[in-house]
Amino acid sequence: MTSEQTAGGILTIDLDAVGANWRRLDGMVTGDAAAVVKADAYGLGAEKIAPALAAAGCETFFVALIDEGVALRTFLGGGEAVIYVLGGLLPGTEEIFVEHALRPVLNSLSEIHAWAAFCSAHGEKLAAAVHIDTGMSRLGLGGLEPAALIDDPSPLRAFTISLVLSHLACAGDADDPKNAEQLAAFKKSSVAFGAVKRSIANSSGIFLGPEYHFDMVRPGVAVYGSNPTPGEPDPGSNPMAQVVGLQGRIIQVRDVDSPLSVGYGATHIAAPGTKIATVAVGYADGYPRGLSNRASGYIGDVRVPLVGRVSMDLITFDVSGVAADAARPGAFIDLIGPHNNIGALAGEAGTIGYEILTRLGRRYHRRYTGG
Ligand SMILES: *Cc1c(COP(=O)(O)O)cnc(C)c1O
Repeated sequence: MTSEQTAGGILTIDLDAVGANWRRLDGMVTGDAAAVVKADAYGLGAEKIAPALAAAGCETFFVALIDEGVALRTFLGGGEAVIYVLGGLLPGTEEIFVEHALRPVLNSLSEIHAWAAFCSAHGEKLAAAVHIDTGMSRLGLGGLEPAALIDDPSPLRAFTISLVLSHLACAGDADDPKNAEQLAAFKKSSVAFGAVKRSIANSSGIFLGPEYHFDMVRPGVAVYGSNPTPGEPDPGSNPMAQVVGLQGRIIQVRDVDSPLSVGYGATHIAAPGTKIATVAVGYADGYPRGLSNRASGYIGDVRVPLVGRVSMDLITFDVSGVAADAARPGAFIDLIGPHNNIGALAGEAGTIGYEILTRLGRRYHRRYTGG
């Protein structure tokens, strides 16, 4: 357990911003917007996020794992919401889908046959989605498999296909020709399934334009405030509202009066006259070690550079530019905030916002606002 008083970091998650982001995306499309809440809602806590999305009007959710779907059904208090499991049908798990009213995303011909056989035995045409691979080569029917179902559509008669989907490989780059190639491949191969609902767009895919929207879009990261248009020339042009704030707690401040090395590897030398603040957050909290000597924190509007290496539980900032009463034990440094958003931090760490989000630590005190 953590508390506001004792935790090394405070993670603030704005549920109103989550709802507003989802409504904004939903307003961009004529069909439905679902929400992707896999990996515990990208690390933000599906137990809180999913009900907030449901309250905003979201009726369809995607998770990666069966167990995430089972938990999500509870978080939603049972209810009517549609829950798709992207990872599909593992052998012998059919009953779990029925018990928790989950729908598998069938990713191969063998999964299609297994679901069809189960539905025939069960005596009910249960709903499932079918995933067609158009360029990821991870999951989904590939090559000639959709056409094989045109030759022998009998398994498709045993269940209800509620959605046919595919996933874009390069949606974050609007100029990548792969987007149009996948769109064309999806239109062509989805014909095998007749007049069913279709979906191809993730967050970034929504911003590729209406021809990518089909009947349903599946945003994840944009709902959580990450920029779905990373290719835009102005990096400040994130159309989404910021959801996450992270504050690290200062636990010691050192006045430097002779040159001092800071942290493991002695990679930074603090000059006399400077001040070093030590904050109780480290790579064990998902704050990437690759940010050593790179990232910035903020105290109010004042930038404080991270100096030295990121340790497991500690990071150090040069707070020379900050008044003593603002940089004192117990005070906070903004690690993610209005001046240093997730995208900026990810860029400095050489990773993507998705990874920053999904690794947000379990030791933070989580403060949910709104909702
Ligand atoms: C994760 C995922 C999404 C959501 O992607 P974002 O880029 O976070 O919007 C959509 N569809 C599938 C198949 C996914 O795996």
